[in-house]
Amino acid sequence: MANSTHDIIRIREMFFQYPHGDFRMHITDMNIARNEKIAVLGPSGCGKSTFLHLLAGIIVPDCGSVLVDDIDIAKFSDARRRDFRNRKIGFIFQQFELIDYLSVLENVLLPLRISRGTRLNLKIKNRALELLEATGLADKYRRRPGQLSHGERQRVAIARAMINNPAILLADEPTGNLDPDNKRHVKNLIFKCTEESQATLIFITHDHDLLEGFDGVIDLQQILQGDCND
Ligand code: ADP
Ligand code: MG
Repeated sequence: MANSTHDIIRIREMFFQYPHGDFRMHITDMNIARNEKIAVLGPSGCGKSTFLHLLAGIIVPDCGSVLVDDIDIAKFSDARRRDFRNRKIGFIFQQFELIDYLSVLENVLLPLRISRGTRLNLKIKNRALELLEATGLADKYRRRPGQLSHGERQRVAIARAMINNPAILLADEPTGNLDPDNKRHVKNLIFKCTEESQATLIFITHDHDLLEGFDGVIDLQQILQGDCND
């Protein structure tokens, strides 16, 4: 059953509620196996982004546990949690969250600037340039996000999420505003990045057409309803 090598994420009796608002999340028991690619489905507002933010330690549960690689990150201070997140987790945000006044290259390097004790050496800069090459942005690394198309900004967000070779890649509706061809393209790029870093992927999507190739599907609404007695 569950052991440290098999499951990279283990959730037990987890409750979460925003301080302001009545949305509540309760997950009794959930495991996600290492190196799997998992799709998370659910209608808008059901808690998909909240779920990813809990996995990333951006927010912490009110009670119960979210173990990431056997560590209960809720027990860390904010600074240690941020550090852990920057080392272990790549996060592709729904709105990308690129910094407008930084270049594409500086945006990709951002998680390393935030991590304590990481020096920006030539090797790391070369890795960022390689990622930009792999995402088709090699000639645009000096640009600002405002000088890129929507699809290009998204690829910067993907490259940034990969800079630390994350053990876990969390993608919040990365194909949300794309046409069918680009959806497949972005999914394939994220799959390729996941496989190359031997990461575990948790990928939110609305799109039933995109489920091919995933190892598992979590229907979040179904899980939350099953755990909600009120
Ligand atoms: P999804 O990503 O599935 O669309 P979210 O996780 O963003 O859903 O939101 C789930 C619910 O939590 C929604 O009802 C939303 O309004 C609410 N919510 C999200 N963020 C906050 C917040 N910071 N404070 C209060 N309520 C919030
Ligand atoms: Mg969302």
